[in-house]
This record gives sequence, structure tokens and C-alpha cells, in this order.
Amino acid sequence: MIPYGRQSIDQADIDAVVAVLQSDFLTQGPQVPRFEETVADYCGAKHAVAVNSATSALHIACLALGLNQGDMLWTSPNSFVASANCGLYCGAQIDFVDIDLSTGNICPKALAEKLEAAAKNDSLPKVLVVVHFAGQPCDMEAIHTLCSPLGIKIIEDASHAIGSRYRDAVTGSCRFSDITVFSFHPVKVITSAEGGMAVTNNDSYAKQMRLYRSHGITRAPEDLKLKQAPAWHYEQQMLGFNYRMTDIQAALGNSQMRHLDNWIAQRNQLAKNYQEKLQALGLNYLQVAADTLSAYHLFMLVLPENKASEHRSIFEELKSRGIGVNLHYTPIHLQPYYQEMGFQSGDFPIAEAYASRAITLPLYPELTEQQQDYVIDTLADIMGQ
Ligand SMILES: *Cc1c(COP(=O)(O)O)cnc(C)c1O
Repeated sequence: MIPYGRQSIDQADIDAVVAVLQSDFLTQGPQVPRFEETVADYCGAKHAVAVNSATSALHIACLALGLNQGDMLWTSPNSFVASANCGLYCGAQIDFVDIDLSTGNICPKALAEKLEAAAKNDSLPKVLVVVHFAGQPCDMEAIHTLCSPLGIKIIEDASHAIGSRYRDAVTGSCRFSDITVFSFHPVKVITSAEGGMAVTNNDSYAKQMRLYRSHGITRAPEDLKLKQAPAWHYEQQMLGFNYRMTDIQAALGNSQMRHLDNWIAQRNQLAKNYQEKLQALGLNYLQVAADTLSAYHLFMLVLPENKASEHRSIFEELKSRGIGVNLHYTPIHLQPYYQEMGFQSGDFPIAEAYASRAITLPLYPELTEQQQDYVIDTLADIMGQ
């Protein structure tokens, strides 16, 4: 089976992990701050806070932005459930903004209309989580221009998008957002096994997120309530969690960062091959805006509208012929848990239409051109072309 995505691990990655196992610290040693510094430098962000998953990073990002009971969080229905669940963890209510069918990202026009309606009945969100779907940054300037006068905070869920660029800005620079979150799950662009990171230019958000990551505990002398504290003294100043990343994970993540730009280039080359071959078959795929560099975490085929009825059979036939296709994503509002909250089929028609025609094709740096040819030839055969 050709998987839809997989990690690449070389000897240097293995050596980096083994070195931690042989060192004094398995966790809370020097590797986590090192990884944080590497990612912050890469993004040009002031602070990076490493945690045990992007899900945890989204949660502490929402908390740092003050999201609370009675507040509203908006996100894209075309995402992994974590982009919305983070709001529920804070007791907030969730709503969605429909997507643009050509990119899979939140549609700025749909956002503008929804904001206008929400402003009228006093139901504006406190936080908007934008999702850089498949690795392509959203139209951040347009989104920021809409949200910033209304005081809406923006989190970029860049779980798919480390290494991507929006115009001349590296994703994670937070030029048009408050906090950006990355995932290092093995199917993503780089991996630390499990792991995530939140980056920000805001000193106070960074400090809050560090507290939330580790029980709400601080040892920093300048932050302690007790003055002239003894050396053993630490203080829990709020209710936090244990969301810490281990040094084993950080060493792997940091080692993987060596490859990031090469892998993005390889993913873009592989995507270009797919595009040319799909064009020759008259098939469509998600478009990438000219002013962005996608990290190409995913390559999404979008079947023609008149083939939506064959979506399932084409998908299953590809699987049965050894191609590990997937579907990113069943819209979040169609999940049973969200349906119980009152969301209904038809609420976000573009995301639903997209999901009824989308197929994730295999894409990862070690995918060969022969394997890509096999994917395309099989697809052509199934579709009778
Ligand atoms: C993978 C993913 C997450 C969650 O990442 P974890 O590191 O597995 O918690 C969140 N949002 C999106 C868009 C994702 O793809």
C-alpha cells in the first residue's frame, strides 16, 4: 500500500534521539528550548512554546487569548476536529465559516458576510482559528483586515503548513495573527512523533502559554508572589496542565528541521507532477494562490461535480489497488458530536460539496515518480479515461 503520507527518518534523526536517551534528561532538559529556538528563528517569531501536540497548543493558545465560557470561536469546517474542539475545552461556543471551493481555505467573502450579520446581533467571535488547509496559507491580510477593527483575535492553525509562505512572510511570523500553531505528528511535514508548538510575538501570550503547559507553575524569581523565596520554592498561580514535550521528541523535531526547506521543495515538485498529469486527464485539484508557497502537506484531487455520485466507488477502488487515499476532511459540523449541538447537514454547503468530491492522493518526500505514475494510471483506468 502506498500511504497518503509518511515520515522520513534518517540516521542523524536516530542519532539525535539516541543521544538524548544516553543523556541526563529525558524531559525538561536542554532539547526542548533548543527546538523552540530553532522554530522561532525559522519563523522570525519572538517566542515558541513546545507542547505534546498541536491539539494542546490550540488549547493553550485559546486560553492565553482569554477565551472563556460565553465566548464564541469560529473556525473552518474543513479541518481536523481539534481546530474546533479547542474552543469547547474553554467552555466557548463554536461556529464555522464556509470555505472557498478552489482552495479549501476559509473564504474571506463568507467571513465578511458572517461578521456583518454577527455584528448586528451582538454575536461576534472572540477568536477566529484559520486553518492553512493542505499547507496553503489562508488570505491572511484580508482576514486580518476584517477581524482586527472588531477586536477579534486570530490563531493560525498551521498544523499542515510549517515551511509555507504567504507573500514574503514565513508562516509563523504572526504578521497577521496573534498566535500560530504547528503539529509534528508523523503524517505532517516534519515530525517529533507526537508534538506541537505555538509561536507568537506577544510576550504576555507566551508567558501565559508556558504557565498553562506545566500546571500553572512558575519558578521564575521575578514572577513569584513570595519575595526572597527559598531555593525549593515554586508557585502554582493558575490551573494549568501537563502538556510538556519530552526532550526525546524535541531532539527528533529539531533534527527534522534541517530538512524542512528541501522537503517543501520536494513536495512542491511532486505536486507539480500530479497537476500536470491530472490536467492531461481533465481532472481538477485544489489551487494554490500565486503569492503563496504551500507546504503541500496534502495533495487534494477534486472530482468533477458530475462524478460526485462515484466518489465512494472511485475511492474504494483506489484503496483496493494499493493506493492509500484518504479524505481531508469530513466537515467538522457533520460529526455526530457537533450534530448533537445542533449543526445540520446543509449548514456549510461549500465544505460539504468539497467533501463529496475530494480525495487525498499520496504525497510525501520519498514518494517516487513511478509511484505517482501508478496513482495516475490507476485513477485514469478507474475513471475510464
Ligand atoms: C493534525 C492536526 C491537528 C492536531 O495535531 P496533533 O499534533 O495531532 O494534536 C490540528 N489541526 C489540524 C488542521 C491538523 O491537521
